[in-house]
Amino acid sequence: MTKPVVDLTIVGSIGIDTIETPTEKREEILGGSASYACAAASFFTHTGMVGVVGTDFPKAFIDTWATMNIDLAGLQTVEGKTFRWSGVYHENMDNRDTLSTELNVFETFSPELPEDYKEAPYLFLGNIHPALQLHVLEQVRNPKFVLIDTMDLWINIAKDDLTQVIGKCDMLTLNESESQLYTGKNSLTQAAKELLNLGPEYVLIKKGGNGSMLFTKDDAFLLHAYPLDSFKDPTGAGDTFAGGLMGALAASGKTDKEAIRQAMVYGSITASFGVEEFSLERLTQLDRDEIEIRVEEFKEMCRI
Ligand code: AMP
Repeated sequence: MTKPVVDLTIVGSIGIDTIETPTEKREEILGGSASYACAAASFFTHTGMVGVVGTDFPKAFIDTWATMNIDLAGLQTVEGKTFRWSGVYHENMDNRDTLSTELNVFETFSPELPEDYKEAPYLFLGNIHPALQLHVLEQVRNPKFVLIDTMDLWINIAKDDLTQVIGKCDMLTLNESESQLYTGKNSLTQAAKELLNLGPEYVLIKKGGNGSMLFTKDDAFLLHAYPLDSFKDPTGAGDTFAGGLMGALAASGKTDKEAIRQAMVYGSITASFGVEEFSLERLTQLDRDEIEIRVEEFKEMCRI
């Protein structure tokens, strides 16, 4: 059998973001779940992006992905404006408010996978409407491992579709407040139990700057976040984490719990770099050696 062209397919949003933090405002910068996730995964494995942009999408952004060796055969450019999102962070940077969401070309997006991508052993269904995630799942042939992400919006407006697609995936990731919203349970362990009952073997709950937890039916694994001196923009941190995790898992060729735990460390450390600057600005300057050095430093911090 010939090796697939990409080892990991990532589908998600591609956006032009305007972001305001307590100290800085940045307009029209590159964002979206697929953009962050593919950038992170590209440090570890050959990654293919599936998404949509409008005819207004700057060529410089496409060049950014191309220099990271992200395969763009699954990227559609259609007549119209690119998806836009803007948000403002609160003083503590933990919470933010969405100021506007313009779906634009995203409104009629139907993700179509290039033939090669259908054979990729690893698939990350990034944050888009669950009906579209399902449409992608229907196109892939026998993937080894599928991770799905979501957000509060889909839990609120498309919970049935979401529940259906979660049941077909190996692993679900969502953040703490989303797990509470979905299940109505405040306890993380109770929420995880309920989510595991939907079908996935693994549930990964992200707790922002407080790290993350991986749950299975038998046990739980707690991973702290790398303590940063300072950071500029947490937008896309969860997508960077998940993309790095899936990239590292695909590079290992494995899907077992030990491999997932190791991959979580790589995802978390890659995300710690991502938030140091806005958009992909830090990730485009990052190299694999820097990731390895920080991983070692992190492991030393956790040694007991
Ligand atoms: P996160 O910080 O993980 O919520 O991811 C932020 C990214 O998600 C931004 O770059 C946005 O462009 C993108 N985004 C915001 N709203 C949506 C939405 N409704 N669907 C898909 N992507 C979105």
